[in-house]
Amino acid sequence: MIVKTEQELAESVKAAPGPLHIRGGGTRDIGNPVDGNVLSTAGLNGVTLYEPGALTIVAQAGTPVADIETALDAENQRLAFEPMDHRRLLGSSGTPTIGGIVATNASGPRRISVGACRDHLLGVRFVDGSGTIIKNGGRVMKNVTGYDLVKLMAGSYGTLGVLSEVSLKVLPKPETETTLVLHDLTLRDSVTAMSAALGSPFEVTGAAFVNGLAHIRIEGFEASVAYRAGKLRDLLAKFGEITQTEDAASAAMWRDIRDVKCFADHGAVTRVSIKPSAAPEFAESLGQTRGADLAMDWGGGLMWFAVTETEEATHKALQDMSAGKGGHATLIKGSASMRADAPVFQPENPTVTALSQGLRAKFDPRGILNAGLMG
Ligand SMILES: Cc1cc2nc3c(=O)[nH]c(=O)nc-3n(C[C@H](O)[C@H](O)[C@H](O)COP(=O)(O)OP(=O)(O)OC[C@H]3O[C@@H](n4cnc5c(N)ncnc54)[C@H](O)[C@@H]3O)c2cc1C
Repeated sequence: MIVKTEQELAESVKAAPGPLHIRGGGTRDIGNPVDGNVLSTAGLNGVTLYEPGALTIVAQAGTPVADIETALDAENQRLAFEPMDHRRLLGSSGTPTIGGIVATNASGPRRISVGACRDHLLGVRFVDGSGTIIKNGGRVMKNVTGYDLVKLMAGSYGTLGVLSEVSLKVLPKPETETTLVLHDLTLRDSVTAMSAALGSPFEVTGAAFVNGLAHIRIEGFEASVAYRAGKLRDLLAKFGEITQTEDAASAAMWRDIRDVKCFADHGAVTRVSIKPSAAPEFAESLGQTRGADLAMDWGGGLMWFAVTETEEATHKALQDMSAGKGGHATLIKGSASMRADAPVFQPENPTVTALSQGLRAKFDPRGILNAGLMG
């Protein structure tokens, strides 16, 4: 069922006789398999309000991200949190929607400098599991009414409500960008180098380790970028060979990093969030004992493991290790049977489970919205 208005969405949810599988563009099928009638928000399409001067955009949840990017581009602005496009990694087709981005809190490499999707989300309108329309937050950053509910919806994967409209803070595009590429580093040295760059005053907006190369990005006015690149080269000289990639080539490089292109051909991929200083030990122990491939973003705070051996066992081992390090591991890509058998999301501790269940009971008392998706 494709709904075209928020009212229709509310009526459809209220009248639903059983479970609903919420879908935007269908490009991010992440989570435990979900049964239920498909409820598509793709018909809720269009930018409702765009005020470049106020750095604010409001759009219906089913609006294609490409349409939003085109509108922003015309004013030299962008979604600064750099949302990942999952199509390449997951082999999915379809049109990514802005609602899907908010529902999964999709946040790319620039998260280390500007924050996540959640931090740019000013307001939401959604329909809860009983068919009630709820609006929360506002259209400008200074409006903090109901802030927590806005934050709650980002990353809740449609299990607490069906988003109908989102309002987001946007930022100006920089004049240029450059990426320093450090060669022949060990994993441990790459984290040390990325930490040094991130801890410097030179405003790094990307720090990733992919295919054995550490990438450090800076953005801004041309003269400032040139100055900061020079300073960073001096700072990082002790790590060996450094090459530099500019402008469009740099942007293309970060799109590949953002979309985890390096693991597009792997059957199973687990994403681990952890504090960057714990990353080397974590990765080395698993890499040495189980042979999983690895890419790192956020200076080491985000690790992608291509799980190549006894996939389910390796994914579970990643979750056990994450639990011990205060991080969390999510199966982003895996076969249907793996997704049905293994815990996709990091198992929660009993306190968090009680909180999650309480929230779900409140927002979706009949348990019909993407039931079971998050376990
Ligand atoms: C400099 C730096 C330092 C860091 N230090 C730490 C640290 O000390 N400890 C640490 O753990 N991490 C650390 N991280 C990692 C970062 O904090 C985590 O990525 C963050 O906790 C992710 O939470 P999120 O919900 O915002 O992310 P998301 O991308 O939204 O989600 C992360 C995972 O949680 C799942 N999830 C999201 N919402 C829910 C929900 N409602 N219910 C169940 N699952 C959900 C998502 O599906 C995803 O798999 C660090 C990162 C950086 C860059």
